[in-house]
Amino acid sequence: MARHKVAWLPGDGIGPEVLEAARMVLDASGFLSEYLAGDIGWRFWLKEGNPLPERTIELLRNTDCAFFGAVTSKPPTDAMRELPPRLRGKGIRYSSAIIRIRQQFELFTCLRPCKAFAGNPGNYRDGIDIAIFRENTEGMYSGAEWDRVPPEFYTVRGMERVAKGAAISLRAITRTASNRIAGAAFDYARKRGRGRVTAVHKANVLRTTDGLFLDEVRRVAGEYGEIGLDEMHIDNACLQLLRDPLQFDIILTTNLFGDILSDLCAGLVGGLGFAPSANIGRDYALFEPAHGSAPDIAGRDIANPVAAILSAAMMVDWLGEEGRAKRIEAAVAEVIGEGKVRTPDMGGKDGTSEMGRAVASKLGR
Ligand code: ATP
Repeated sequence: MARHKVAWLPGDGIGPEVLEAARMVLDASGFLSEYLAGDIGWRFWLKEGNPLPERTIELLRNTDCAFFGAVTSKPPTDAMRELPPRLRGKGIRYSSAIIRIRQQFELFTCLRPCKAFAGNPGNYRDGIDIAIFRENTEGMYSGAEWDRVPPEFYTVRGMERVAKGAAISLRAITRTASNRIAGAAFDYARKRGRGRVTAVHKANVLRTTDGLFLDEVRRVAGEYGEIGLDEMHIDNACLQLLRDPLQFDIILTTNLFGDILSDLCAGLVGGLGFAPSANIGRDYALFEPAHGSAPDIAGRDIANPVAAILSAAMMVDWLGEEGRAKRIEAAVAEVIGEGKVRTPDMGGKDGTSEMGRAVASKLGR
């Protein structure tokens, strides 16, 4: 009997391949779920002028959580150029499917663990184990952008500093969202017995927005006396991550900085093929590998599915099956430690499906 109901969203590029490998592992682990396939991605932009059809939103509403591969996103001008003529002139505008899901379902926490598994030839240093908490609904990803400053903006004090004719993006930071993401990071630290949270910001330049973010972080930190709080500028954090990544435990930051830092941290532990992620809200969550659709390697059975498999483990954990999640992670650790199966990003010749089978075989014993 299926215990859970998961929306299954393979998407574009390597999404379907890595999800198939993750599915092998989920099945071998004995995880019992119904998987309901959903339409998402570039194909649906080209077919319907909407990469996230309403029926997919409905599907998400009727499931416990979603498991997602990747979607191809292109700049708006390219997206409009590729839209079939029959769909033009109807006021259709491209917007990122995944950002819409994060905002619509208020999946405010983006958790991206970056762990150096022993034996991974891509490790920058052994022992790295950093969990990044990235605010997921606002900041530079608010979606408020103008290709020219609207004239009425110039009636607002301070706007005279902005050149006429500039394109602008709005960086919105709220107390509510800052408080929620800080709470999620400190809760995680407490539950997992982790000692330090490093808040990464640029409050010396982005005084008002990052000032507010830091203010909320400090307020939340006050409720978790046993957990230390460090504060670090984003530029210094990049330097420190390369100098001594072991000084970091949990990183807590805003949307864009978190996006960039999570790729940097993925690079420290073998690359994007090792970076899982979870987008978590109050009562819904979506799990996905942190990488994109990687069109350069799609359809060739060479993508590393470990990020997707670890994302599946995070999903199983979130659904309350911690023991099973730990076993999946241990199976990944065992395969990497043995070094017999390695995908091309690890310097090997094994394929996506081979890696999936290897991890699954450790669970099916
Ligand atoms: P997005 O903006 O959608 O996140 P991106 O431009 O950051 O996408 P990705 O699709 O994540 O790009 O790919 C970046 C690079 O990493 C590409 O060269 C890709 O081949 C490689 N890559 C991504 N995922 C994997 C994977 N699972 N295994 C091996 N290589 C990968």
